[in-house]
Amino acid sequence: MQHQIQVLDPHVADLIAAGEVVERPASVVKELVENAIDAGARTVTVEIQRGGMAMIRVTDDGAGIPADQCRTAFLRHATSKLRSAQDLAAIGTLGFRGEALAAISSVSRMELFTRTAEETLGTSLTLEGGEVLSQEPAGCPLGTTMVVRDLFYNTPARLKFMKRDAAEGAAVFSLVQKLALSHPEVSLKFLRDGKQDLMTPGDGKLQSALYAVLGRDMALGFTPVKGEGEDITVTGFVSLPACCRGSRSYQFFFVNGRQVKSKLLMAALERAYENQKMVGKFPGCVLQLQVKASTVDVNVHPAKTEVKFLYERKAFDGVYYAVLSALNGEDRHPAMAFSSPAKAPTPAPKAPEKQGGFEQMSAQEFRARQALRDAAAASLLRPVEKAYTPVYTPSPGKIPDFSPESAGKSTDLGRNVDKPVENVENSRGKVEIFPRTPVDTPPPPPPRPAAPTPSPAPPAAPEEAQTPPPVEGKEEVPWRLAGEILQTYLIVEQGDEIHFIDKHAAHERMNFDRMKAAGYQPMAQTLLAPVVFTPPPEEGEALLDNLPLLSRFGFACEEFGGGALVVREIPDYLEPGQVEPALCEIAGQLLSGAGADPQAARDAVLHTMACKAAVKGGQKNSREELLVVVREVMAGHVKYCPHGRPVAITMTRGQLERQFKRS
Ligand code: ADP
Ligand code: MG
Repeated sequence: MQHQIQVLDPHVADLIAAGEVVERPASVVKELVENAIDAGARTVTVEIQRGGMAMIRVTDDGAGIPADQCRTAFLRHATSKLRSAQDLAAIGTLGFRGEALAAISSVSRMELFTRTAEETLGTSLTLEGGEVLSQEPAGCPLGTTMVVRDLFYNTPARLKFMKRDAAEGAAVFSLVQKLALSHPEVSLKFLRDGKQDLMTPGDGKLQSALYAVLGRDMALGFTPVKGEGEDITVTGFVSLPACCRGSRSYQFFFVNGRQVKSKLLMAALERAYENQKMVGKFPGCVLQLQVKASTVDVNVHPAKTEVKFLYERKAFDGVYYAVLSALNGEDRHPAMAFSSPAKAPTPAPKAPEKQGGFEQMSAQEFRARQALRDAAAASLLRPVEKAYTPVYTPSPGKIPDFSPESAGKSTDLGRNVDKPVENVENSRGKVEIFPRTPVDTPPPPPPRPAAPTPSPAPPAAPEEAQTPPPVEGKEEVPWRLAGEILQTYLIVEQGDEIHFIDKHAAHERMNFDRMKAAGYQPMAQTLLAPVVFTPPPEEGEALLDNLPLLSRFGFACEEFGGGALVVREIPDYLEPGQVEPALCEIAGQLLSGAGADPQAARDAVLHTMACKAAVKGGQKNSREELLVVVREVMAGHVKYCPHGRPVAITMTRGQLERQFKRS
């Protein structure tokens, strides 16, 4: 068979290239807004209709395009921003491939209105599928307006891949938010189907843009970052550890003004929060990196969101240390090393010192900052947040009494596995769910007679200490709940060992196992006052895409318009105040990959629900409730929380004595 190699017809080549640049309405908006910013615009307005599928209009007050160059702008590889190969090494502007307008116009119907300062009359140009239909002089304000209609009207295959208009609109909104954060110097306005969703002041301050984008409450949960490393400066804002969220949707990185995705930078950010934030929560950030243009390659993909750093270590360290010093400022107390007292305790990661090129904050400055942060965090304590990140306030008069007399029938002495555990009233007067029988775990061992008294510890300390989690298999030795500290950790004395149990982690695991068991049916309760909230756009869409799954877990929710959701029914173990954080957390997990696989999606919901249904650190619980948890842990049914953290740690008498230098 004969075949002939041919150079592609330029129009076909454009269509192919278009697919790379123009994936969906959001990518069109990105290119058009970046062009406007490159043209020196101070004010940019983005309008979309039907998620951008029907119309996208971007208006700017930038330099405009001279009449004789309007057609050229739509040719492939036509750009005013790049002249030579050398320029490629140091890209200062946002667009640089001269591809965007050619690509967008080849898959849509476009109109251009533009005028430069030198011209008295502007130009209007119309194109369809990349072909110029007309060019006329027209009265236009200074600057440029690009209108894109009927995106992908001539590429049905691509059109099929578009999500619902609302989902495309959400993606556009999320993109506009990123653009707003990366260009605080530009006043950006966003209108969706005629309704204004965002307007930034354009005063050049990142903080103002942050306020406009995240809203006041959320912006207050951020703390400023300022760091200078080798060939890199890092500025911006990061979440306070207490204000981390259930998803990564609010992580924004910018390199030399360009929004980028980078696993490297994400890892550096999250490393800085190690041991500071709750497991399963993610910090938010708006971090601007300035690096030498020649040490960064943004040319990895035409969509231009991925970066490669020439010196990855410098970029990682730059972000890590800048964030760490914003969060820590000064040394922490070294952690007490329970498991290996022989070794020197490992200090928490130290804030960087001079060698890294970072300035160390003075103690005074740190305290001043901390006061500011505390004030900001306090003002954040809406009821929802309170349930989320409870704060322990020591109140001397209210320390629970654990003396045997006050315990009534001292059910804590010895094991009571045979006694069925009923639901109990907790201090909030609400019935918490506690399992009657553990699920997914071996049946409890046969009951043994309860031990008469807590056994006094034998005098001699064992030679070698056990490391966590040693609770398993120690059930023969009677135990005693000695008390609760910090309203979070239960202390159980058992022979020569002291177990610390994280009551939340343990209860979470119990719930997880029970909910995972086949046939588990949550009780849905109808809310008197439905909960209405507006999640970040992509999270909202993730939830709407998974309504059947959510309803299996007791949620009845639906779209409420304008990106808001209304929740009418919730599982009975949730309080209305927990609905928004729970759903946002689920959405975050669905977005970070779990959404693709039904089993993973189910587990993601399970994790969140098990956590929400569990008693919280900082929450007051009755002794009865605590014992339910302790029994399960001491029986060895519960070892790790669903996130993989240990549920209990153990210290031996020997370890304790060594800390006191007794042995
Ligand atoms: P690139 O941005 O990579 O140069 P584009 O196809 O996006 O390629 O744009 C082609 C050219 O059109 C730009 O180089 C610029 O000269 C001009 N242009 C596009 N949009 C605008 C605008 N909003 N204002 C002024 N000039 C513009
Ligand atoms: Mg461009």
